[in-house]
Amino acid sequence: MIPSSVSVLMVDDVPDNLLVLEELLRHPGRRLVRAGSGNEALRLMLKQEFALVLLDVQMPGMDGYETAELMRGAESTRSIPIIFMTAGDRSDEAAFRGYDVGAVDFLYKPINPQLLLNKVEVFVELHRRNLELCALNAALERATDALHEKVADLESVNQTISHDLRAPLRSIVGFTEILAESLEGRLDDETAGHFRRIVAAGERMGRMLDDLYRLLRLSAAEQVFPPTECGAVFRGVVDDLRGDIESSGAEVTSDALPTLRANPVLLAQIFQNLFANAIKFRGGEHPRVHVTAEAQPSGWQIGVRDNGIGIPPAARERVFGLFDRVGETLPGTGVGLALCKRAVEKHGGRIWVESGPSGGSTFYFTIPARE
Ligand code: ADP
Repeated sequence: MIPSSVSVLMVDDVPDNLLVLEELLRHPGRRLVRAGSGNEALRLMLKQEFALVLLDVQMPGMDGYETAELMRGAESTRSIPIIFMTAGDRSDEAAFRGYDVGAVDFLYKPINPQLLLNKVEVFVELHRRNLELCALNAALERATDALHEKVADLESVNQTISHDLRAPLRSIVGFTEILAESLEGRLDDETAGHFRRIVAAGERMGRMLDDLYRLLRLSAAEQVFPPTECGAVFRGVVDDLRGDIESSGAEVTSDALPTLRANPVLLAQIFQNLFANAIKFRGGEHPRVHVTAEAQPSGWQIGVRDNGIGIPPAARERVFGLFDRVGETLPGTGVGLALCKRAVEKHGGRIWVESGPSGGSTFYFTIPARE
């Protein structure tokens, strides 16, 4: 919480001077505190927080310089700004001595009221900003702690997915298959169908767990963006998908692709998911996939165009949601595009899809330039 008023400490051994200062500085957002000696000032400073100290130099007993020196010695008072008020020496030596013990400014008596007000206002404002910054910092620290907790949760969820959930699922599917085999010939069609459905559902769940694992791994992945040759990543992915490409008769081509600052593993995952989808959601013709690259003032826009079944307008945003799918006829888990979205966002970019009424989709994503 930032306090509504900030405190200014005025130190002078002459009570009338303090009254004059108080008169000049009175303001609803300021709390003015008086001290008649260096000792009293130090005691007050240890008890409460001040935005500024107006410190008379010539005082009997402990003078302003000595008071300032003692302030510098204590952690809690070290950084309170001091404006020295002096009637005497205007020499450079005196000023240097003041700066040495922590003065940030000087006011010479008789004090010019406007100058006093201006200087005090600057320090009060500075203090207010400082308090705001501290509050923001504290909020940031709390948010960072919460984030660390979430990352730790995510890691343990991932551990659960990759081991604790995968293992029993493997048993369910494996033993169901063994059971079905051992009963072969003795089952009626309906019961055999039930066995097949258990196995298919288990396998589907396994794929979902694998995809979820990939997605969570990606969320926790390190963010390094070296200069990456996009064309090489493209060729690597085409190579990996060689089987699907050949069996579907697909043609996957590209413009000349740039070298850009991107994470090569994430870029490959984006291409891999988009190409696999373009082949899977094909229309009547052989799939044709083409990658474009357009330089923009803020980075690169990459497009992956296909001649597939297209995506209805109402589904064009939600396909990027986790487990969101348009139809259930083709196999899939609905994780691929969510993964692409995360990977693009890791680069600070965005992804969207455009699709015409007669089919064909183009997925665009941006990779912002970085220093
Ligand atoms: P999955 O492919 O496992 O279903 P995705 O997240 O990759 O999951 O895709 C979500 C949905 O978006 C798909 O189920 C499909 O309906 C639609 N989709 C994705 N890519 C294409 C595409 N190139 N053409 C037509 N529909 C697509």
